Amino acid sequence: MKKVHNFNAGPCILPKEAIAASIEALKEFSGTGMSVIEVSHRTKEWEAVMNECEALWRELLDIPENYKVLFLGGGASMQFCMVPFNLMEKKAAYLETGVWAKKAFKEAKGFGEAVKVASSEDKVYSYIPKGYEIPKDADYFHITTNNTIYGTEIKHDMDSPVTLVADMSSDIMSRPMDVKKYGLIYGGAQKNVGTAGVTFVIVREDLLGKVTRHIPTMLDYRTHIAEGSMFNTPPVFPIFVMTETLKWVKNFGGLKAMQKHNEEKAALLYNEIDRNPMFVGTAALEDRSLMNICFVMTEQYKDKEDDFMKFAKERGMVGIKGHRSVGGFRASTYNACPKESVQALVDCMQEFEKMHK
Ligand SMILES: *Cc1c(COP(=O)(O)O)cnc(C)c1O
Repeated sequence: MKKVHNFNAGPCILPKEAIAASIEALKEFSGTGMSVIEVSHRTKEWEAVMNECEALWRELLDIPENYKVLFLGGGASMQFCMVPFNLMEKKAAYLETGVWAKKAFKEAKGFGEAVKVASSEDKVYSYIPKGYEIPKDADYFHITTNNTIYGTEIKHDMDSPVTLVADMSSDIMSRPMDVKKYGLIYGGAQKNVGTAGVTFVIVREDLLGKVTRHIPTMLDYRTHIAEGSMFNTPPVFPIFVMTETLKWVKNFGGLKAMQKHNEEKAALLYNEIDRNPMFVGTAALEDRSLMNICFVMTEQYKDKEDDFMKFAKERGMVGIKGHRSVGGFRASTYNACPKESVQALVDCMQEFEKMHK
């Protein structure tokens, strides 16, 4: 197989071990004589996977008993409307830190009074707003912990006077976190915990059943809680891949070890961006993401961006083109991205610098 360094923002690089186990299960699943995509989701073999998946989530994130863990379809984008459907009676507050946050806010407007407490749109979402007021009468406060496109991240579990809801699509399982500080956490699996097709939701059960509106069956979290995420056919293969990915995270040493690994990779690349006179980071220093590292070429070398892209591509770098709204480069250094790949990118940047001295 061709050797590349995969920095794709999503779907993202996955652990080799998880891919190998998934290939085996596609051939034969758990001694059933059938592929994992052929077996009934009502078999004991499949139930064992669902149970293991949930157990891994609970163990890795130390999820308290009164929280439910759900595996649904629809992507994180579906949660933009499911959250207000289930939790917003009158008013909800949103922090706008990027286009995903903006999309979530837009959906909430259809359900009542949606308040934008702050936005960093004025500077292309290159920082996390601070010093805003969260309305105490809001049903919840929605944040996006990692802004995949702009490379900013809220790296701590913040305090909120009202229920905290977080889109953690692109930084879930990248560090230990205090689930108790949140009322609901959701995300698409394809950034850091698996392949596209499954969405995780962690919700404190007592928050549900408080709104007066009618909630369609499939959009009501209680439906999926009651049926163990198997009210209808679950996305079996994505759940299988996610389970194998989480096993790898556990074998890696859990989230403390993962955080160290992610911090080391990010430091390696940010140090080079800051040292190399040809490159400059785009995110505010204190808000720099550990998962998506965004940078451009300095004014003096602006006309060299295409050259560098070509140069890096020839050396096996994949997925380093920045999002069209930011330009430049973005290296996504998710859990499964090895340090060796980050070093290869740093080497590229240094070689390119030498060529232009
Ligand atoms: C990718 C992404 C989404 C959208 O996820 P889908 O599963 O494709 O709907 C939402 N929020 C964040 C932060 C993302 O990175």
